[in-house]
Amino acid sequence: MLRVPRPPPPPGPPRAGLLPLALLLLGGLGSADGSEVNLLDSRSVMGDLGWIAYPKNGWEEIGEVDENYAPIHTYQVCRVMEQSQNNWLLTSWISNRGASRIFVELKFTLRDCNSLPGGLGTCKETFNMYYFESDDEDGRNVRENQYIKIDTIAADESFTELDLGDRVMKLNTEVRDVGPLTKKGFYLAFQDVGACIALVSVRVYYKKCPVVVRNLAIFPDTITGADSSQLLEVLGSCVNHSVTDEPPRMHCSAEGEWLVPIGKCMCKAGYEEKNNTCQACRLGFFKDSPQSQMCTKCPPHSYTREEASHFCICEEHYFRKETDPPTMACTTPSIITTVKKGKVAKNSISLSWQEPDRPNGIILEYEIKYFEKDQETSYTIIKSKETKITADGLKPASAYVFQIRARTAAGYGGFSRRFEFETSPLLAASSDQSQIPIIAVSVTVGVILLAIVIGFLLSGRRCGYSKAKQDPEEEKMHFHNGHIKLPGVRTYIDPHTYEDPNQAVHEFAKEIEASYISIERVIGAGEFGEVCSGRLKLPGKRELPVAIKTLKVGYTEKQRRDFLGEASIMGQFDHPNIIHLEGVVTKSKPVMIVTEYMENGSLDTFLKKNDGQFTVIQLVGMLRGMASGMKYLSDMGYVHRDLAARNVLINSNLVCKVSDFGLSRILEDDPEAAYTTKGGKIPIRWTAPEAIAFRKFTSASDVWSYGIVMWEVVSYGERPYWEMTNQDVIKAVEEGYRLPSPMDCPAALYQLMLNCWQKDRNSRPKFDEIVCMLDKLIRNPSSLKTLVNASSRVSNLLGEHSPLGNGVYRSVGEWLEAIKMGRYAEIFMENGYSSMDAVAQVTLEDLRRLGVTLVGHQKKILNSLQEMKVQLVNGMVPL
Ligand code: AMP
Repeated sequence: MLRVPRPPPPPGPPRAGLLPLALLLLGGLGSADGSEVNLLDSRSVMGDLGWIAYPKNGWEEIGEVDENYAPIHTYQVCRVMEQSQNNWLLTSWISNRGASRIFVELKFTLRDCNSLPGGLGTCKETFNMYYFESDDEDGRNVRENQYIKIDTIAADESFTELDLGDRVMKLNTEVRDVGPLTKKGFYLAFQDVGACIALVSVRVYYKKCPVVVRNLAIFPDTITGADSSQLLEVLGSCVNHSVTDEPPRMHCSAEGEWLVPIGKCMCKAGYEEKNNTCQACRLGFFKDSPQSQMCTKCPPHSYTREEASHFCICEEHYFRKETDPPTMACTTPSIITTVKKGKVAKNSISLSWQEPDRPNGIILEYEIKYFEKDQETSYTIIKSKETKITADGLKPASAYVFQIRARTAAGYGGFSRRFEFETSPLLAASSDQSQIPIIAVSVTVGVILLAIVIGFLLSGRRCGYSKAKQDPEEEKMHFHNGHIKLPGVRTYIDPHTYEDPNQAVHEFAKEIEASYISIERVIGAGEFGEVCSGRLKLPGKRELPVAIKTLKVGYTEKQRRDFLGEASIMGQFDHPNIIHLEGVVTKSKPVMIVTEYMENGSLDTFLKKNDGQFTVIQLVGMLRGMASGMKYLSDMGYVHRDLAARNVLINSNLVCKVSDFGLSRILEDDPEAAYTTKGGKIPIRWTAPEAIAFRKFTSASDVWSYGIVMWEVVSYGERPYWEMTNQDVIKAVEEGYRLPSPMDCPAALYQLMLNCWQKDRNSRPKFDEIVCMLDKLIRNPSSLKTLVNASSRVSNLLGEHSPLGNGVYRSVGEWLEAIKMGRYAEIFMENGYSSMDAVAQVTLEDLRRLGVTLVGHQKKILNSLQEMKVQLVNGMVPL
C-alpha cells in the first residue's frame, strides 16, 4: 500500500494511465540484490525503450517522471469497454548474457472490473506474458503464435476509483522465470485482452552466485543453472599464498546462494590468514607449514631475517636438532641433569645417567670428567657412547666428583652439575646389595685373575700406557693442569742411572728457548744461584708466571749436573701437589730451570708471616695437599728425604706443593742437614730415627718427616724441638719422647702426628691412609673441634720450658727438679727408678718405702705422675 499525494485523475472513461507513477516509485519498486543481474530494467532506461505496441491504439507509452523528474517508462492499456481486444506490447531484444534461466519481474496496477460502470461484460483482470528466443534482433516481428507463453498474469491487488480518491494505490509485483534458454537472447511480449493495466516496470534478470571467498578459495560469479532445483558444483581457486591438496568446491543454487562448501585452502608456510587473505609473517615470526594456523613468534634464541619466514634461524652457538619442531627453542646442547650412583667398591664407582631431555641432535658420545674431591687440577676423562660407566682405579674411602656432558654434532653441551660419590672404605664390602654366594664370587675372582694373567702373558705387554680397555665404547685419559697424564703408576727413574746426565735431563725436561722467558725479579737464593720470578710465553700458549732457578756463572761440570739433576727428577712428576717443571734452558747461558710460580713462596716463611691467621680447615687443607703429593711420590717409588715446611711451596690459593728434589741437596744444600756419626748430612729434626741411625730412608721415613711438617704447620712455622741441639733431639727421640702438641691443635691431628712418629716404621700410616684420614676430617669438620686439652698439653719437651709438674722429662732427676722434689732424686735412682717408665709405676707404698714420708711430698709426686698418666692414656706423649 502506498500513499498517493497527487490529486485524483479527472472523471471520464477509466484510464489506467492516470497513475501517480512518480509516487509509486518512491521506494516501492525495489532493486536487484547481489545475486541478481539485470538484463533489462525499464525504469533505468533513460531514452527510448524501443518497445513496439500494436495495434497502435492498444498499449501506449506514457511519459512520466519520478520524484526527481527523471523520465520513466510506463505502458498503459484500458480498452475494457471494447470487445475482442488483442493488444501486444513487444520489448526490444534482450541478451541473456549466458544465463539459461531468466526472471521477469513485472510491476503493474490493474483496475477492478467491478468498479467500472457498464464494462463488466468485456472487462478482464489479467494479461499474458510471452517470450521468443532469438540469437539477434531480427526476430522481433515474428507472428504472435511463435511466441511462447510464459504465464497469465493476474493482479493480487486491483484498485477502484475510490482507491484513487483515497490516494491509495495497489501496485502488483509478479515474477516469472523462464528457461532453459538456448539462444543468445529473447523478446518478451505482453498481451492485453481487455483489461485496464498500467505496466509500471519490467525488470528482466538472471540470478548468480556472486563471487565469494570462502575457506581461502575464490569462487567466481556463477550464473545459476537452468533448472530451478539445480545445484551447480563450482571449483574454487586458492587465494594468493595459499595452497591445497584438493581444490575446494561449493554449490551454487538456482536462487543464487552458495551452498555446501567442501575442502579448503591453507595459507602456505610463512603466511597466515587474515580477512580471507594470506598475509606474510612479520619479522621475528614464522609459520612452518600450511597446516599451522598462525604465524608464531620465534622461539628463544632464534630470529628471522625476512618476512614470510618458514622457520627461525638459531642464534650463533645455539642449535636445534633436525628432528625438533621449529617451534622448539634453540639451545646449546642440553645438559644432563640426573646422574645415579650404581655399584660402589673400594676402588671403583659405577654411574649411570639419563640422556638429556632435549638433546639437540643425536648424542655422539658422553664425556665423563672426574677427580678426587679438592683435586680438580688432576682429573680423568672417560668418553663413553653409553649412558653408564665405571670409574676405576679410585682410592678407597675417598670422595670423587663427577661431571658429565653430552656431545652432538653441534658440539659439547655444558657439564652437568657436580655429583659427589664416595668409594667404600678399605675393608667394606661392595655396596652392591645382591647376595652372591661366596663360592660364586671366589670362582669369578679366580676366573678374572686367570684371564688377567693370560691376557697379560699373551699381550706381552709388561708396562707402559695402554688406553683403558674396560669397554670398547669407552676411552679414558688422565689430565693434570690440562696436560694429558698417562694412566698407571710410573716408576721414578734415578737420573744417576744415566751415564750421561744430559740425556736424563732431556728425557724428562723440555728444552725452552731463552727468548721465551722474561725474568722480572729475584725472589730467593738457591744453592746454585739466584731464584727469580718471571714469565714464560711459549708460542701458541698463554703466558705463565714462572719461577726461574739459575745456575751461577763459573759453575763446574758437577754443579751443572747436580743443578739439572733436580729438573730430571721434577720432570718425571705430574701431580697438583708437586711443583711442576715447565722446562729447562741448557742450550744457552745462564742455564735455567723453569717451574710453576708459587706466589706465597716457601711454606715455613709464609706460615710465620701469617701466624694464627688460618682456620683449622685451611691448615688441614694444606696438609692434605702435601700428603697427596707425597703419596704420589711414594707411589712412584721416590723417597724425598728432606720433607720439611721450608721445602714446600705454597701458591695464592693456599695449595701446597712439595719441592726441592736436588740430587746432592741432602748432603750440601739443606742448612738443616747435619753430619751424622755415619758421615751423612741429615736434617735431624725432620728425619726418622732409623734414617738417622742407619740411613734407612724410605717412604716411611718420609712419613715421619711429614708428621714434623704437620707440627710445623699447626704451630705456624715453629721450629721443631725449638733450640734443642741436634744431639739432644736424637737422644730424646731415641728415648721415646716426642714433640708435644702445638697450641690449639685438634686432638685428631696430634694423634696423626704421633702415629707418624711411631718408632716402628711399619706401624706408621702410609701416605694414602693419611690422605684418607685428612679427607675424613675435612668432610667432618666437627671432628676437628676437640682440641688437645690445654692442661694435658705438653707444651715443651724440654725441662726448662716445662710448666711445673706438667711436662715430659728427659730424666727422673729432671722431673723431680721440675716439681721441686729434687731432694729425692738420688733415692729414686738408687732404688732402680732410673727412667720415667719405671717412675710411672710408683705407688704410695713405694714412696713410703723410699722414705718419702711427708704427705705433701707424696701428694705432689703422685699427682704429677697421675697427670703424666692421663697424658699417656690420651696417647699424646708415648713414653
Ligand atoms: P730453592 O732453591 O728451591 O731452595 O729455592 C729458594 C727459594 O726460592 C725458596 O725458598 C722460595 O722462596 C723461592 N722459590 C723457589 N722456587 C719457587 C717457586 N716455584 N715459586 C716461588 N718461589 C720459589
